[in-house]
Amino acid sequence: MTQASDFESHYDLVVVGGGPAGLAAAALAARAGLSTVLFDENPGVGGQIYRAIGSTPVADRSILGEDYWAGADLAAEARASGARIMTGATVWSLDSARLVGVSVGGQARIIQAGRVIVATGSLERPFPIAGWTLPGVMSAGGAQTLLKAQGMVPAGRTVMAGGGPLLWLLAAQILRAGGRIEAILDTMPRRNWLHALPHLPDFLLSPYAAKGLTLLREVRAKVPVIRVDGLEAAGDDRLREVAFNGRRLPADLLLLHHGVVPNVNLAMAAGVAHEWNARQLCFQPVLDEDFGSSVPGIAVAGDGAGIAGGTAAAERGRIAACAAIRALRPEAFVPDLQTIRQRLQREEMGRPFLDWLNRPADSFRQPEGETIVCRCEEVTAAQICAAADLGCEGPNQMKAFLRCGMGPCQGRLCGLTVTELIAARRGLTPAEVGYYRLRPPVKPVTVRELASLPVAEAERRAVEG
Ligand SMILES: Cc1cc2nc3c(=O)[nH]c(=O)nc-3n(C[C@H](O)[C@H](O)[C@H](O)COP(=O)(O)OP(=O)(O)OC[C@H]3O[C@@H](n4cnc5c(N)ncnc54)[C@H](O)[C@@H]3O)c2cc1C
Repeated sequence: MTQASDFESHYDLVVVGGGPAGLAAAALAARAGLSTVLFDENPGVGGQIYRAIGSTPVADRSILGEDYWAGADLAAEARASGARIMTGATVWSLDSARLVGVSVGGQARIIQAGRVIVATGSLERPFPIAGWTLPGVMSAGGAQTLLKAQGMVPAGRTVMAGGGPLLWLLAAQILRAGGRIEAILDTMPRRNWLHALPHLPDFLLSPYAAKGLTLLREVRAKVPVIRVDGLEAAGDDRLREVAFNGRRLPADLLLLHHGVVPNVNLAMAAGVAHEWNARQLCFQPVLDEDFGSSVPGIAVAGDGAGIAGGTAAAERGRIAACAAIRALRPEAFVPDLQTIRQRLQREEMGRPFLDWLNRPADSFRQPEGETIVCRCEEVTAAQICAAADLGCEGPNQMKAFLRCGMGPCQGRLCGLTVTELIAARRGLTPAEVGYYRLRPPVKPVTVRELASLPVAEAERRAVEG
């Protein structure tokens, strides 16, 4: 088993995240001669889109679709490149000196990097509705992870709700795997079309159009799709029914999805400047054309840089790797950047249409009443609004008032909701309200891991005097 002591204390390039962005970046950098290590917290590489690409029990390729299997080449390329690929490795700290805190197998190490590429990808947007903490209610991405990694297909009366490419992709994957879906509750407001239509021509020219329309046709042929403006998961000790449009549908499993947003925790904790993206309704890092951030030597690539999908993520990883190579080994060969940028542009051109069309309504992003917003600390929307009315100015003061965002997920499941609720309550923009101030460790670390950190002689003497 890989041990933390197995790796060097210094690397030219440290890549955090083994999804398409990280894999592509590590492969390119290692082949150019940079000493490169890639850390990913999962048992295998692949990230979200290619999860468990090396070990999935799903043998029938048609179930997950050809896009999924493209991940096998990317993983093989990274493994063959000479890069050190460390899975089961969680990065919990990164600072402006590019010191990386990582844990593997219960041991921790601090690694010095020449350059860092943060490729930590995306997370599902919070979908706070009444009853979303009931057993039997989960995110669509969670169900897809179970399908990809364990071959598990939902059983019982399954209802899906929300919108966005992933919801339809998963619906098709469940049906192909022999699963059954009672209904899809489409929460996307019709008025989204007003903003989306101007971007339709670009979408139709993008790789998304044909795939997306085929997927919609495949699912709509087998599953009733119902437009809903409101939604509630009802039950006692577990989900029993889904309530919408004055109706109640018996259900054993409710899969929720309202799109994905950048996973900002590590980059923010490293001091990388972020800004509000009003089209994608999320915070994203402020980056230059090579995905370099406001912290010298730290780049952010992939969906962590703003949502654009798996293929775009790989291109972004390559561009960030080229910048690291140029900085650390200017004599080394790098592929033609112009070509990579053109490929990236083609991948990104369909995004504005998808973002506007799949924009969740305010009512779903700003819940009310006793709906739980912070699952870790069980803080409700009513409590947050009351604190804002009392004068609580922002998410960090809200932490002091209500402890929201202070649990094991460190705001991943409530941060955007808290920001938007405060903004709405105070008549400000989310950009003006801001986000939680994130600090390391960005992932839980045990005291035993911290105690396993090697102590340099100077440090030991400094403590022991
Ligand atoms: C649950 C989910 C399922 C998705 N499924 C699909 C799909 O089937 N098809 C599709 O086109 N798009 C899918 N997406 C969208 C996905 O974001 C992109 O398509 C693509 O995976 C982005 O690639 P990436 O390299 O930027 O990041 P990701 O693929 O998200 O990879 C980032 C990796 O970094 C790891 N990581 C994060 N933080 C740390 C840390 N601190 N230490 C170590 N490792 C860390 C993550 O666990 C992950 O393995 C999904 C998104 C989500 C959230």
